[in-house]
Amino acid sequence: MDEVRRRRYLAAMGIVVWERRSADLDRAAVPVAAETASQPAPEPVSESAPEPAPQPAQHAAQSSAPAATREPAVEAPVAQEPITEISVTEEPIADEGPVQAAEAQPQPQPDGPPAWSDADLAGLPANGAGAMPPPQFDHAPPEPSRAAQIGTMDWAALEQAVAGCHACGLCERRNRTVFGVGDRDADIMFVGEGPGADEDRRGEPFVGRAGQLLDRMLAAAGLHRSRVYIANIVKCRPPGNRDPHGDEAGACRAYLQRQIELVRPRLMVCLGRVPASNLLNTAESVGRLRGRFHRYGAAGVPLLVTYHPSYYLRSPEQKAKGWQDLQRMLEFLAQDAAGDARV
Ligand code: SF4
Repeated sequence: MDEVRRRRYLAAMGIVVWERRSADLDRAAVPVAAETASQPAPEPVSESAPEPAPQPAQHAAQSSAPAATREPAVEAPVAQEPITEISVTEEPIADEGPVQAAEAQPQPQPDGPPAWSDADLAGLPANGAGAMPPPQFDHAPPEPSRAAQIGTMDWAALEQAVAGCHACGLCERRNRTVFGVGDRDADIMFVGEGPGADEDRRGEPFVGRAGQLLDRMLAAAGLHRSRVYIANIVKCRPPGNRDPHGDEAGACRAYLQRQIELVRPRLMVCLGRVPASNLLNTAESVGRLRGRFHRYGAAGVPLLVTYHPSYYLRSPEQKAKGWQDLQRMLEFLAQDAAGDARV
């Protein structure tokens, strides 16, 4: 911008330029004054009455006009109109002010939980995912009961569990646990009450005098102990060969139950009062229980009751009863094998 245009522009803006007078400036002022007098005065630019903002089409048309007439229009502070529009848009807010503000802001509930509406819950997923995190528990889930754990064991795990068992007081004076012996796929399973001194020493059931008599009885019936399975109500010897207490038998019951489930015998035989009362949950004597079939457990396994071999040792005249019971066992197995067993 040359000096003439600059001064004209400043004059249009109402800006007075004070400069030191000098010969050069005086000389320069002469043509300015002369030019000002010879040319039409620039259109005044007034802040009180600003020109409307140039529209794009007008601006393009003015681009072809002389520069002296374009500059004030371009530089004029016309674009203040949006400020006026802002003041207009504020009016609805002022009118609705307090009411709308009160509705927009959630009001605190004086007491109790927040009042949720159906609209508040409408956007939540049906399964609640993303709405609330799942509850966290400090404690671990309960472990399966001991009986449930034993009920899933195979032979190896079961034998190992018995060997290390301390579930009742009988573990304190035992020398060895007495797990069981015989054919694990046997048709007949014999159940005694508990280990004696010989069994506690050897870790095998029915190896004392009573056990030897049992072997002879089985042999007379054409059976060998390796073809049957033999176990006891408790796996550890009760002190003094006393009867096992109820809590001891109960603690050991899961082991016997698992043995029965694994063998799946066709016939069970209780040797004496203790196994009969435990498995049949009865207080009846052997004399009243023997001679007929019973059922054991949910599977309804046929079960016979006979005297313990030690009874025949004490009362040899009763051995005929033992022989009768053996014949009944063999007869049942024969009929069962033929599909004609009646219990
Ligand atoms: S008698 Fe049975 S329950 Fe008791 S310690 Fe021996 S194996 Fe365990």
